[in-house]
Amino acid sequence: MQKDVRKFGTSDKRGRNSTNADPFLPHAGTQESSICTDCTAVYHQKRWSSDADIFRQLQAHAAPHRVTCPACQKIAANYPEGILTLAGDYLWKHEAEIQQILKNVEDRAFAKNPQERIIRMTKGDGRLTIETTEEKLAEHLGRVLHRSHRGELKINWTGNPDICRVSWERML
Ligand SMILES: [Zn+2]
Repeated sequence: MQKDVRKFGTSDKRGRNSTNADPFLPHAGTQESSICTDCTAVYHQKRWSSDADIFRQLQAHAAPHRVTCPACQKIAANYPEGILTLAGDYLWKHEAEIQQILKNVEDRAFAKNPQERIIRMTKGDGRLTIETTEEKLAEHLGRVLHRSHRGELKINWTGNPDICRVSWERML
């Protein structure tokens, strides 16, 4: 492991002081039994989920609050908390495969927690940049890619405390 690399799961936003730094805290101001009208995420029993059964039950029986969930707000405002940058010749030779891995990881993350989403992917300067709504998703994407395709992974929590920057590079 390189310097600046911290073990998965050691950093958690909940461990920080809640200040005004994150305008999209997942629980602040969200009322029990809310549904996101953009992505159909459900806020129920103090957590966001993507459970279609709960969604239907709430709609049928509970007259849920209709809101835009924090992840959808971050996507609309282009407010990333995680930034993963991929680079190296190997990336472009295996781009389709790597894009598919990222998509699969995002799908699984969404099923577990609909607040973990990819905001956008952009190409430029020989890099593929993936912005995520949650720091942990950027870290997780990087780790899965590193596990399946090796390369060099760096995870950096220094600098802006609200953004996790992850970079992965493989030349050959
Ligand atoms: Zn949503």
